Amino acid sequence: AAKDDGRNTHRVFTPAMRENATERIMLISKLRSALANDEFELNFQPQIDLASGRIVGAEALLRWNQPELGRVPPGRFIPLAEESGLIIDIGAWVIEQAIATAAAWRSRGLGDIVMAINISALQFRHGNLARDITNALTRARLPGTNLEVELTESTLIDDTDRLEETIALLKRRDVKLAIDDFGTGYSGLTYLRRFAVDRLKVDQSFVRDIDQGDSAALVTAVIQMAHSLGLTVIAEGVETQTQSDQLLGLRCDQAQGYRFGRPMTAAAFESLLIDQAHAPSTTHQSPTVLS
Ligand code: C2E
Ligand code: MG
Ligand code: MG
Ligand code: MG
Repeated sequence: AAKDDGRNTHRVFTPAMRENATERIMLISKLRSALANDEFELNFQPQIDLASGRIVGAEALLRWNQPELGRVPPGRFIPLAEESGLIIDIGAWVIEQAIATAAAWRSRGLGDIVMAINISALQFRHGNLARDITNALTRARLPGTNLEVELTESTLIDDTDRLEETIALLKRRDVKLAIDDFGTGYSGLTYLRRFAVDRLKVDQSFVRDIDQGDSAALVTAVIQMAHSLGLTVIAEGVETQTQSDQLLGLRCDQAQGYRFGRPMTAAAFESLLIDQAHAPSTTHQSPTVLS
């Protein structure tokens, strides 16, 4: 755009940037074959009900084990998968796998766990997200209430009929809707009701500083607002007992973070659920499920 010209005219393409571009092209080309070569894996991170200490959910987090490069962090490859459009196919794989895993846990009587999956804006714009998800639910015989889609505020900015229609179709199947990284994006708040959002995930940056005045005030306000609208709140990135205690004091509903468990394999998560199924549910359980 013309207004940007002043800033960009003198931009120099430095060797560091060239290296970066080469690396991006290399990573994208490796990403192209990653699905076919079975290089992806889902990890699952527990979500804890703060009052009871019990695991009530799992967030599916994608891992890429690249034979030559080792584990490439999602922060690096997800943006490239989005840029290249590969996120459509990769995302469809995530949906299928996460739903199948949740259905397997449920059929083994391991509790009423809600599986949360991350969905990129591009998946709402292209492909057929609602159909992919509802078909996967039907195939796995998983009730929609056992699935939650996480999207960010930036996805909702892009307020199209298609987005609205997709969310409406998912809601009709009782799929839950969560706003990820809440508080970091631009947010009008009207969408919370328009899209019937179920849950806010308070970004880990606020949790990290929760012992400081501003973050505590912000988290308090978010929790009060959410509750008055009938939404639940989960805090992300909870690493310490102090943070967990503070959040419980603020009536935060749930928490997720290293304090309760790192993202882990499906097998490791399943053994946590087996332990939980054998633990008494009436007494207060101290949440100690570190992996
Ligand atoms: P996110 O959805 O906000 O996921 C939370 C991130 O915080 C995860 O990073 C998780 O491992 C990390 N985390 C959890 N607890 C703690 C903690 O106590 N302390 C700290 N410091 N970090 C914690 P991860 O797995 O590297 O994923 C990064 C991002 O990549 C995710 O952020 C999400 O935006 C994206 N992502 C991951 N899997 C998928 C996927 O299947 N599809 C899409 N579209 N995006 C994904
Ligand atoms: Mg997430
Ligand atoms: Mg997040
Ligand atoms: Mg994030």
